[in-house]
Amino acid sequence: MTIDADVVIVGGGPAGMATALFLIDYGINVVVLERGDKPHADPRAATYHPPTLEMLEKSGVTAELHQRGLIARHWQLRDRRAGLVAEFDLAVLRDDTRYPYRLQCEQHKLVEMMQRRVLQSSHARVLQGVDVEVIKQDESGVSVRGRNEGGDCLVRGRWLVGADGGRSVVRKSQDIAFDGFTWAERFLVITTDFDFTTQGYAFSSYTMDPIEWVATFKIPGDRPPGVWRCVFPTRPEENENDLLDHGHAANRLAALSAATRGSTILHTNLYAVHQRVANTYRRDRVVLVGDAAHVNNPLGGMGLNFGLHDAYELAPHLAALVRGDADLASLDVYDRRRRSVAESVLQAQTIANKKLLEEKDPATRLERQQDMRDTAADPTRARNYLLRTSMIEGLRAAARIR
Ligand SMILES: Cc1cc2nc3c(=O)[nH]c(=O)nc-3n(C[C@H](O)[C@H](O)[C@H](O)COP(=O)(O)OP(=O)(O)OC[C@H]3O[C@@H](n4cnc5c(N)ncnc54)[C@H](O)[C@@H]3O)c2cc1C
Repeated sequence: MTIDADVVIVGGGPAGMATALFLIDYGINVVVLERGDKPHADPRAATYHPPTLEMLEKSGVTAELHQRGLIARHWQLRDRRAGLVAEFDLAVLRDDTRYPYRLQCEQHKLVEMMQRRVLQSSHARVLQGVDVEVIKQDESGVSVRGRNEGGDCLVRGRWLVGADGGRSVVRKSQDIAFDGFTWAERFLVITTDFDFTTQGYAFSSYTMDPIEWVATFKIPGDRPPGVWRCVFPTRPEENENDLLDHGHAANRLAALSAATRGSTILHTNLYAVHQRVANTYRRDRVVLVGDAAHVNNPLGGMGLNFGLHDAYELAPHLAALVRGDADLASLDVYDRRRRSVAESVLQAQTIANKKLLEEKDPATRLERQQDMRDTAADPTRARNYLLRTSMIEGLRAAARIR
């Protein structure tokens, strides 16, 4: 099977589907090659920040997210012993965005919403069950060889977008370094039906502790009233089977709040956490978006959003190139803008978020808590802090890069 397209997108996860969605809006023909046969349903991202909701507005995805998701206007910083430290109200961003809140909904539902719209377009084809193995580019385009049940699948595009996640075959095929580091501890995600609002938690809360911090957030689940995800650090020496055991998970929750006893553990998941950025987002006709270009810890809910912002920035540049209205230098603008904020915002903020939660020095911890309390109480400081953590400031900074 040989297929031609203006743009071939490898990977049909959040970043790949968003790239397809934004490109078809410019009338560009795309082919998406995805290894899986449906969106991955394991617990992953579930938080959408204001700019992401603005970017998905035109396609109707934002309206659907509002129907299926939960609005979190406030988020809290808590301390495991002292309880509430500070509560941030995103309404202070009402003059900065049409969506002054976080919206919480599982990532696989978002992918399904985008995919449904992509499939309705005459400009798009989505080939599932295709595992891309070889990518070769020449002066006029990029050739891709994948494998599916029927054998080899050959696709040629004028441009190729690598949206194939942290282990990106596309990035490796172009010999692009992925520098950074991996945290020693893995993160454990526990999904429970326990309602943390009964203990005063906001729909999105981060609890500081020198030994075991925790991030808790509510998601819609399969039906109302929804479920809660709790993300914990683990010790490197802890055994994987013990960590995933539901009895063990119930004890971990009970240590956080005795009120959780008797609630149901619905799911456990353990994963390694990295902080890495590709050393270029473009090699001639091949461009990277999403986790293929950057990975980070999930504290602050930025990774998926950032990949969608990559796609939104890339689409007009690629569309202009396909139409012959721009030259290759336009892709360098994409690289400069997105890579710079990946370093200065995505990496810096998510690392700072983790360090805040795990602060071990008691005096520094109290100082940081007072600073966060003062920030939340002062509307100007709160707005500046929320502009940054809601990913608005980074986009504004990127737009100034030429
Ligand atoms: C537990 C957890 C919690 C998270 N929480 C948040 C959060 O709250 N907020 C947030 O913003 N982010 C969060 N993230 C990060 C978020 O899930 C990722 O940033 C996001 O999935 C990246 O999307 P992507 O499309 O770039 O990559 P992926 O989701 O990895 O998608 C890549 C796609 O490419 C396909 N693929 C890979 N290789 C090939 C190949 N060779 N051929 C064909 N197809 C291929 C895969 O099947 C996959 O569908 C979390 C991650 C985890 C693990």
